[in-house]
Amino acid sequence: MRRSAFWFGVGVGAASTLGAQWLFRRTLQPSSCSGYHPEFYVNSYWLDSAGYYQSCPNPPLVARRYEADIVIVGGGLTGLSAAWHLAHRFPEKSIVLLEAARCGWGASGRNGGQALATNLHAIDHGLDWSFETRELMLEGLALIRHWSERYRLDFDACERAYLVLVPENRSEMAFAERTAEFLEQAGIPYRFLDREATCKRIRSPLYAAALWYRDGSIGLNPGKLVVGLKQLVEASGVSIYEQTRVVHIESGDPIRLETDFGEIRAGTVILATNAYTHKLGFFTNRYLPVLNSVIATGPLSRQQLEEIGWVEGEMIVTSELGTRYFQLTPSNRIIVGGGGSVVCYNGLLPNGPDRQAIRRLEEYLFSLWPQLRGVPVTHAWTGVACIATDGLPSVGRLPGAGNILYALAYTGEGVTLSLAAGKILAGLYAGEDSRWTRSLVVNRKLPYVPPDPLRSIGFNLVRWWLG
Ligand SMILES: Cc1cc2nc3c(=O)[nH]c(=O)nc-3n(C[C@H](O)[C@H](O)[C@H](O)COP(=O)(O)OP(=O)(O)OC[C@H]3O[C@@H](n4cnc5c(N)ncnc54)[C@H](O)[C@@H]3O)c2cc1C
Repeated sequence: MRRSAFWFGVGVGAASTLGAQWLFRRTLQPSSCSGYHPEFYVNSYWLDSAGYYQSCPNPPLVARRYEADIVIVGGGLTGLSAAWHLAHRFPEKSIVLLEAARCGWGASGRNGGQALATNLHAIDHGLDWSFETRELMLEGLALIRHWSERYRLDFDACERAYLVLVPENRSEMAFAERTAEFLEQAGIPYRFLDREATCKRIRSPLYAAALWYRDGSIGLNPGKLVVGLKQLVEASGVSIYEQTRVVHIESGDPIRLETDFGEIRAGTVILATNAYTHKLGFFTNRYLPVLNSVIATGPLSRQQLEEIGWVEGEMIVTSELGTRYFQLTPSNRIIVGGGGSVVCYNGLLPNGPDRQAIRRLEEYLFSLWPQLRGVPVTHAWTGVACIATDGLPSVGRLPGAGNILYALAYTGEGVTLSLAAGKILAGLYAGEDSRWTRSLVVNRKLPYVPPDPLRSIGFNLVRWWLG
């Protein structure tokens, strides 16, 4: 081959590689650098009010080969909390967090904003579990306080009482009594409201009783929490790459992770992918990825709040299956979520809103409080919750792959549990023997869930049957 032809070939090759890279980055990052990216857009009030779409996502990790001591997969509350704890305990380690979309894009930016101190799912598992999960949740709350006080981050956090609304149903009444027993044992102040008092309290006849308690739970803006926590994590020296999806993990030492853009080798991997974990081939038949929707109304006037009796701004949850949860924002918007959840066939997880569930939520809100008819619904979104059939989470090491750690299945209590899980993960990485690494959740085997089509048909039928 002539020498000039060789150099011409090299030149064309180099130019097309650089050109392709430039094009690739341009398509991933809109030139205006607005955070809006249609594929990653979620109409969540929390993300919207946290300025999520006014900022730009971090660029992806584009490297043919990359190495790190610790790779965290998933940038929700679990991944960010684990990253923060690890960076503070092991500043000498190279820590990388990979997020398929943007930090907070998953359940962490789409939830109901209730940072809870009592796990209602644990009540039926006895006092050990009830106290254990409460301690983890209190740790999560302590972290929220620490981050907001020490680093002056504002998550609109406000301690609020809790109101559990109980329908006319014997088993729900019995559940409320068991919950009251736990509150008594835990020394948490509570009150039982009969039908008349409940009706007066919420200005609605839909519920037969209620349990009011003040257990230290906090109402907050989870969008602001993920945005603030991401800043803290980056300031601690962790490299966060967004728009970087891990497509395959091969265990070993080092562990090999394939992403859309290249390969990464890591000494330790932390799976913080919650309801998406089955897509990587882990925990496939151990949890239900359940679609759950939320709506936000426009701001209510003081008079409208008085008309529905919601002047103290308690957080509210209903106790029936297909539970609904309510929260009032500082600008007096009502956030309502829950109701008809759906398990998608074959673990497929659509990103868009579940329109039917959203319509039913609107109908429910205005049947509970017809006084509010005409109040606009400004935001509506759907997220995926990771549900263990017994309602309890698990944090630990993958059996047979001790350098892969995981935390998942917080059901509807993940805001505080995921933050505590981050602390446990750092303790497990350190190999420490502590109160946290000895927690009941550590290496807990999640109950078996039958595969599809049995799983989705069974779950959705039961939901439909029970309304
Ligand atoms: C609608 C809804 C309402 C809820 N309400 C409440 C509530 O009020 N109170 C409460 O305590 N809990 C609530 N929860 C539960 C709580 O939000 C979650 O338990 C918690 O946010 C889980 O955090 P996480 O970081 O583990 O998961 P997520 O926030 O889901 O984060 C997982 C992240 O991993 C990323 N990821 C997945 N796969 C990959 C991959 N292959 N490569 C790279 N990245 C990947 C995803 O993009 C995602 O950002 C609710 C959940 C939902 C869905």
